[in-house]
Amino acid sequence: MRSITRSKDQDSILESLEKYSAVFIIGCGTCATMCRTGGVTEVLNMVQALKQNGKNVVGWTVIPTTCDILSHEIIKQEQDKIDKAEAVLEMTCGFGNQQIGAGCGIAVIPANDTISIGREFPEGNYTSACMQCGECLLGSTASICPMVLCPKSLGNGPCGGTDNGKCEVDKNKDCAWTLIYNRLEAQGRLDVLREYQPPKNYQKALEPVLYSLEEEKE
Ligand code: SF4
Ligand code: SF4
Repeated sequence: MRSITRSKDQDSILESLEKYSAVFIIGCGTCATMCRTGGVTEVLNMVQALKQNGKNVVGWTVIPTTCDILSHEIIKQEQDKIDKAEAVLEMTCGFGNQQIGAGCGIAVIPANDTISIGREFPEGNYTSACMQCGECLLGSTASICPMVLCPKSLGNGPCGGTDNGKCEVDKNKDCAWTLIYNRLEAQGRLDVLREYQPPKNYQKALEPVLYSLEEEKE
């Protein structure tokens, strides 16, 4: 599973950097490399693009796993260059940005938008897998997530618009509930479809800053 990221467009990145002329760039060797949004190639392209737009790129690095707490140790090795920067341009996911931003002391500007948790399938394409809804239904949906794959996020489906197994919202995509039906049928579990899923409690999707499993048990 990976954080799936999409590069912001160049104009909005330059706009975010408007106040800063000296910039240090950080990429990530894990998810952002897989998504081609912050690996060595993309970081080097960004170095060139910023230079062409008059920025002073004081340095760059691609941290193996930027969201890991050890990234602070790697950053220490680059500290002399970061000290010359007015801002860091972060070509990682939001988690990586938060990890670096917590100890950086200067602005950490995101070059990417984090879309979801997902996987690469097939190579070069990304599929969402979980939107962290806080009430997992996969036991009733044959491990196919309707929150992510159905545009209406229906917990009780299908919606009635299914057309030959395709989704009425996007006819190029399989209807999530057809996929669920087919897999439940193959598992001999079609009776599960008769279980009513109550409306989701979206308050459970709100992630507290400090989350305690112990508190939840009380
Ligand atoms: S039902 Fe919710 S928690 Fe389970 S995979 Fe889907 S989005 Fe994630
Ligand atoms: S056709 Fe299927 S995937 Fe599309 S909105 Fe309806 S239930 Fe969801």
